[in-house]
Amino acid sequence: FSSEEAVRGFVDRVVAYNARLNALLDFDPEPALEQARAIDARRRSGEPLGPLAGVPIAIKDNICRRGEPTTCCSRMLSNYRPPFDAAVIGKLREADAILLGRLNMDEFAMGSSNETSAYGPARNPWDTDRSPGGSSGGAASAVAASLAPTALGSDTGGSIRQPAALTGTVGLKPTYGRVSRYGLVAFASSLDQIGPFGREVADVARVLSVIAGQDPRDATSVDLPVPDYLTAIESKGERPLRVGIAREFFGEGLDPEIESAVREASRIFESEGATVSKISLPNTTQAIPAYYIVAPAEASSNLARYDGTIFGHRAEDFGPKSEVEKDLPALIRMMMASRAEGFGPEVTRRIMLGTFVLSAGYADQYYVRALKVRRLIRDDYDRAFRDVDVILGPTSPVPAFKVGEKISDPLAMYLLDVYTGPANLAGIPGISLPGGLTKSGLPIGIQLQAPAFAEETLLRAARTFE
Ligand code: GLN
Repeated sequence: FSSEEAVRGFVDRVVAYNARLNALLDFDPEPALEQARAIDARRRSGEPLGPLAGVPIAIKDNICRRGEPTTCCSRMLSNYRPPFDAAVIGKLREADAILLGRLNMDEFAMGSSNETSAYGPARNPWDTDRSPGGSSGGAASAVAASLAPTALGSDTGGSIRQPAALTGTVGLKPTYGRVSRYGLVAFASSLDQIGPFGREVADVARVLSVIAGQDPRDATSVDLPVPDYLTAIESKGERPLRVGIAREFFGEGLDPEIESAVREASRIFESEGATVSKISLPNTTQAIPAYYIVAPAEASSNLARYDGTIFGHRAEDFGPKSEVEKDLPALIRMMMASRAEGFGPEVTRRIMLGTFVLSAGYADQYYVRALKVRRLIRDDYDRAFRDVDVILGPTSPVPAFKVGEKISDPLAMYLLDVYTGPANLAGIPGISLPGGLTKSGLPIGIQLQAPAFAEETLLRAARTFE
């Protein structure tokens, strides 16, 4: 069948289901169908086509597409249309992928439920009363419901892997530096990484091969050759895989059904000839406090630019609202009003936390100490990876929860990152894979992690479960 027919198949599903899922925002099928027709014409005329020719891919709303709204699901950026493409978008266009539209997300990628979005929550197709997770909730929902075969998300503390887990999809966070962040609206620059969602490991392998690679516009992207991940994972590994399971994974708060799924995954590995051993990552138990200092600190700095002068929403009415404000210059009042109107409550909380932990007199006590913990976490992984190739564990401590259940309890929401945050702090890659269903029929995610730039090993290990 033609690319147009293939794209139409997905478009029909978007039309049928998106109103209930709220995964894609202001969806317009025409540009995608037009791209597909152009690809069909080129195919007919015998022109060579790129590796993703005709493959639809939906894009999280924090990845810039030239001339298209890119809002981070924030009122602050409601009018932003970037004059340039993100590096990954340029690569997808070159590969002849079909950009299907923009995806719902938590505001500025801050959250684990997609509920902080200015467009309202995305819904989990397994049960639309439940959250698909976050912050890439729209991406997970869209791929789980086959509105798109693949999607791009971003992962700062788990935002690709956790929603993948809650929706039974595959979600990959590459190594920090594997994929250019140029054109990804920054949340926490030392943790952010773009990565793919798919239904199978091969899907994410294919997309990663296209989007990976060094980019002069992102000084943290690393100059290492990009393997063809699909071919790499299809070839057999040279020696049996060594799998580690950390004792710290089975602490308080882990749903027993998820624990059994991880133990079952370990048996599957063994039956496939892998050796499974117990390891320890003692400092990962401190990942949540370290993450919720480092990430807000960087966010407060990155988001300082949105004040209505050059970047971001500008308030119309900034007359003094109190006696104190009367003495402030109009410019300052304009910035204050613009930020108050533009940012939602979670983003505001992060900016306040971040500003506090960086302030004189507190920076050593909080920020610098969190960086030391971050280093210890990285050392734990380095030590563990001397003995094992991949680490197996849960992705999320709980399966999909109800929309509204956790949003008024930020600490409960933050604790959902307990198994994903350590990989971002250490810069290593991680993948979430479907690991069966709970008795009540909700997807369970299992996570694999590997050393930096060992995506081939990670993806090959992930295939054990398919
Ligand atoms: N849940 C985490 C947070 O709110 C992670 C978000 C992300 O990875 N973008 O910060």
